[in-house]
Amino acid sequence: MLLSIENIVKNFEQGKDTLKVLNNICLRVDEKKNIGLIGPSGSGKSTLLNIIGLIDAPTRGTLKIDNINCDILDQDQRTAFRRKNIGFIFQNNQLLHDFNCQENIALPLILNGTGYNAAVLKAQEMLEKLNLQEKFKSKISILSGGEKQRVSVLRALIKKPYILLADEPTGSLDENNSIKVFNEILKLANSQNTLTITATHNLNLIKKFDSCYKLEKGQLIEYT
Ligand code: ADP
Ligand code: MG
Repeated sequence: MLLSIENIVKNFEQGKDTLKVLNNICLRVDEKKNIGLIGPSGSGKSTLLNIIGLIDAPTRGTLKIDNINCDILDQDQRTAFRRKNIGFIFQNNQLLHDFNCQENIALPLILNGTGYNAAVLKAQEMLEKLNLQEKFKSKISILSGGEKQRVSVLRALIKKPYILLADEPTGSLDENNSIKVFNEILKLANSQNTLTITATHNLNLIKKFDSCYKLEKGQLIEYT
């Protein structure tokens, strides 16, 4: 089993009220494929991705990744597991402006213990895959929106994560760039055998998924 979510519940406590966001969610994935996650704003898409990415913990339920029960990991083990196995792409790229393109992309390798020079070389290889070699040393601030998002895609994939979690990864791009960047995400991820889970509002992306699920009123249902 690549990924197994069993009866996940997520509540947020707000003063004396409880906001119930995920209500007994189940999902099993047993092959490397591209999964879509749709649902209205506020339905819990980011919450679910954050739980799968070990950024947040569920209120109840079990998460297994690569047959490892993540509930029993302590905080340090969760961090180590996340750094090794999880790649994240966010809508607003979340790149670090004090570092240039190649350094932003190299950072996950450096955090995992690779030396600076080797990590930057690998980052350059990644940039070449998307024909961005002239941007090796560019500041983030001079990049176009599409280029920034491509850099964040490369940063998420450089360590060849087991799972790529993409949270509205094209939400800040125009339609043309959305399709282009999303195609690049899938091409790169699939070429290195990474399972992808993408939350999106963009109905044009849905046909690219191998399977798609919808979050609504706390439930996860297959969307066909
Ligand atoms: P989506 O990504 O589908 O738009 P979210 O997962 O971001 O939805 O949010 C689901 C619901 O949970 C929203 O009502 C949101 O306000 C609430 N929520 C998300 N994170 C928190 C938090 N840390 N504390 C309290 N409420 C939260
Ligand atoms: Mg969201």
